[in-house]
Amino acid sequence: MDLRICHLYPDLLNLYGDRGNVATLVRRAQWRGLDVHVLEARLGEAVDPGAADLFFIGGGEDRQQRLAAPDLRAVKGSALREAAADGAVVLAVCGGYQLLGHAYRPADGPVLEGLGLLDLETVHPGPGARRLIGNIVVRDLAGGRLLVGFENHGGRTRLGSAAAPLGTVVAGFGNNGEDRTEGAVAGTVYGTYLHGPLLPKNAWFADQLIVLALRRRWGDVTLAPLSDAEEDRAAVAAAARAGVRVRLDLGLPDP
Ligand code: GLN
Repeated sequence: MDLRICHLYPDLLNLYGDRGNVATLVRRAQWRGLDVHVLEARLGEAVDPGAADLFFIGGGEDRQQRLAAPDLRAVKGSALREAAADGAVVLAVCGGYQLLGHAYRPADGPVLEGLGLLDLETVHPGPGARRLIGNIVVRDLAGGRLLVGFENHGGRTRLGSAAAPLGTVVAGFGNNGEDRTEGAVAGTVYGTYLHGPLLPKNAWFADQLIVLALRRRWGDVTLAPLSDAEEDRAAVAAAARAGVRVRLDLGLPDP
């Protein structure tokens, strides 16, 4: 079995070491004996919808998003839409997440049109507005497990009816600091504000995405458990920094 990952804009959208998410997917898949291939697609480079099982987009500030947005729509858009419709996983973080929605209105300058893969819109209230910064703990809506991370965004995201939140905010701001939603999911497309990077500290979520990504070509796959004591300790420590005391046996998978 093999897993093919396509990392979009690895040099442009890579805040807070977001590429660590790709490294985590690669290692966790390899530890299960999978062959893993990582493709990269930069500005101007088209992607083949059938060439990857999982597409990853990291975060970036408004300046980088201004470069990525037109490329995402014109050069990669139709392939990503086709891949997602066919069951490929798309995971986008922060700036990348905002660009998967219909539009992002930056602090200043023109509105950036997004891909519309997720039914949401993001508005930055302006350069003087308070940024939503800090450690964040989220309860995953699908399984009730915890996701921990760090967020830093000016944009406020509101979901439409065709996107479900990824989770509910336990501590932190999430999509907009008001409705306690965090992230968005539609089919196999995921968006989130969580850096950390996200996946090294939320090993169960990394595995969930690997299983989902493998499903399209390999059917239902079960991954052998790994010893995640270290990852779980890191998650508990991250939750504690957000002011949330987590008991491993309640909030996180068993070590
Ligand atoms: N520029 C966006 C915002 O501030 C995204 C920032 C990020 O990716 N951390 O809302």
